Amino acid sequence: MSENSFVIGAVNVTSTEVKCPGCGASIGVKYDPEALNLTCPFCGLVSALPQPGTVPVMQELDFNSALQRASVNWGHVKKMITCANCGGQTLYDAEQVTGACPFCGSTSVAPAAENAQIMAPQAVIPFAVTKEMTQLCFDNFLNSRRVASKKVYGSKLENVIGIYLPFWTYDTLTVSVYDAHTIESRYAPRQNFRGVINRFYDDLVIYGSDKVRNQNIKRVQEFDFQRMVPYSPKYLAGIPAERYTVGLNDGWERAKMQISEKIKKMLFRKYFWKATIDAINTNYYNVKFRYVLAPIYLATYKCGRMVYPVAINGQTGKTYCEVPTFLAKLILIPLAIMLLVLVLFFFALTPELM
Ligand SMILES: [Zn+2]
Ligand SMILES: [Zn+2]
Repeated sequence: MSENSFVIGAVNVTSTEVKCPGCGASIGVKYDPEALNLTCPFCGLVSALPQPGTVPVMQELDFNSALQRASVNWGHVKKMITCANCGGQTLYDAEQVTGACPFCGSTSVAPAAENAQIMAPQAVIPFAVTKEMTQLCFDNFLNSRRVASKKVYGSKLENVIGIYLPFWTYDTLTVSVYDAHTIESRYAPRQNFRGVINRFYDDLVIYGSDKVRNQNIKRVQEFDFQRMVPYSPKYLAGIPAERYTVGLNDGWERAKMQISEKIKKMLFRKYFWKATIDAINTNYYNVKFRYVLAPIYLATYKCGRMVYPVAINGQTGKTYCEVPTFLAKLILIPLAIMLLVLVLFFFALTPELM
């Protein structure tokens, strides 16, 4: 076993890599494997660790009270519309008049009743791509598509709308306890052991909406969250924002799922050739969240009689849309020729039919 191994009965326990969730101290933090708790000599914090294989006993985070305390002051009067077609909820400056949903173009939009208490964002990723640059992003994207039909080159973007999308970001310090056993071999019997690891997760990003809308958005929604700035109403002047439909709590559930996958993968990499992980249980400390708006352009272009939706990342310029291709022709034309040859061949073999 590695450094700092304990043995309780048949179970070895390692206490490496553990930091105090209170002050971050890593030297002298005592891990009591029988009581399953940590004691910090610096800040005095005694924190209970989760029992592997059980449901965490830790109190749930009180996001509801956080939401109540959160600012609802956008610095500007906002009104919200809900789209009856795609379910998208969009916030506008009160004096902006709009009759159409920016996501699907539907005019079945209605002002929402509860306009007053909509949480204001803490941060914004400002637009770095200007509206004028979107055509260039689109042209570059088309040029990267080899099989695109010649008809699409030179297409003009239409109905270009800049809009902010809602994201939750979470920071948390995790302490996980895991049970594992070594793989039995000719030279060594199976051994059970228990370990503790902790990790800090910074800016885990969860998209705050799961309405089915412009599918292209998913393809371009990678943002650099290091470049966010504190929210100020000036960033939203004249630009609508999508309202989150995945709330803070649901976002946190999704974030925890992502974290537990990461921890599983990390333990697998650490032990994959010498041990099997039986159970993991994780506590989350110092959870911080932020509500962040990130920029995107929605647009359309025409090819023949078809109208295609386009999404462009307003920070990076990454573009995605469906593009009509020659592929169908490339497959159908040889297929038709083959069929013709087969028919002629068939008639040549059976001249009595002629
Ligand atoms: Zn401490
Ligand atoms: Zn819509």
